[in-house]
Amino acid sequence: ISSVAFIGLGAMGWRMAAHLPKAFADVRVWNRTFSKAQQHAAEFGTRAVDIKEAVQADIIFSCLPTSSEVETLIAEHLPKAGSIWVDCTSGEPTSAQYLNVHLQARDVAFLDAPVSGQTIGAEKGTLTVMVGGDAEALQRARPAIEPFAGLIQHVGDSGSGFAVKAVNNMLLAVNLWAAAEGFSALKAHGVDVQGALACINASSGKSNATETVLPQRVFNRSFPNTFALNLLAKDAGIALDLVQRAKLPAPVLALTQSLIRAASDTSANDSDFSAAVKMLERWTNIELS
Ligand code: NDP
Repeated sequence: ISSVAFIGLGAMGWRMAAHLPKAFADVRVWNRTFSKAQQHAAEFGTRAVDIKEAVQADIIFSCLPTSSEVETLIAEHLPKAGSIWVDCTSGEPTSAQYLNVHLQARDVAFLDAPVSGQTIGAEKGTLTVMVGGDAEALQRARPAIEPFAGLIQHVGDSGSGFAVKAVNNMLLAVNLWAAAEGFSALKAHGVDVQGALACINASSGKSNATETVLPQRVFNRSFPNTFALNLLAKDAGIALDLVQRAKLPAPVLALTQSLIRAASDTSANDSDFSAAVKMLERWTNIELS
């Protein structure tokens, strides 16, 4: 690998791309708002390039809001033969399958490689990367992924990485909503919320929602926007689509998808995912603090 490129310097991409110069001399970055790419280059020693030069790299990363933006870019800017496109977007499995076939015909490998660990994991370089697609292509791309990863896990054919990511985020949504309902009930009964949190986090009802989201984002009313609520709603939709295409009953997931979609549609555009609980607060008149 002599050149790598990173497309999409958003909350995640900005931090992920910052690790690449540790391992590679030629790190190209491109962002729609180009000033961000120039700022990244100045800060981290990457090189701001136009999109045509970005897609000529040996390994091309993308981290955009949805599969639709990735498909548009690839349709307009074909990568060179022999390269590997590593898409770190939380995307749609069917889109990964389409792009894999479409690019294979041009001798380009496509890996769906979404990440978890939030912006803090991106900053520390400890992300979990769940990869679908050709295992041999992953072997070749691995040295380029390692600088920002704590765990790189192959999970199956094209689309599998996106599927795992969607289910993970659906579980985050289920746990967050359920925890908010549970703590509303405790508050309604005058229970000490911090004490309750300490007990539950030492018991079987704990989850990432009780361990980090409620204490660090909700109870202190900070709701810092590091992962947009509309992106979580998108992920819940992808997970529900998986369930429906398999014709499975999944009442809890279906209900949660509706809740998160409604919360997103009735919230300000720049809301953090944790602000989904504000919809419940409006229903109950109980503030989770
Ligand atoms: P952001 O909204 O912070 O960044 C989005 C990026 O996509 C920006 O660089 C933006 O460019 C670019 N972009 C948007 N639309 C277009 C377009 N039409 N053409 C080209 N570029 C475009 O998102 P995140 O970084 O938070 O999320 C990116 C992906 O990672 C999503 O799929 C998300 O679900 C996933 N993810 C997010 C996590 C988080 O904690 N934030 C954690 C794990 C996964 P511009 O600067 O010009 O707006």
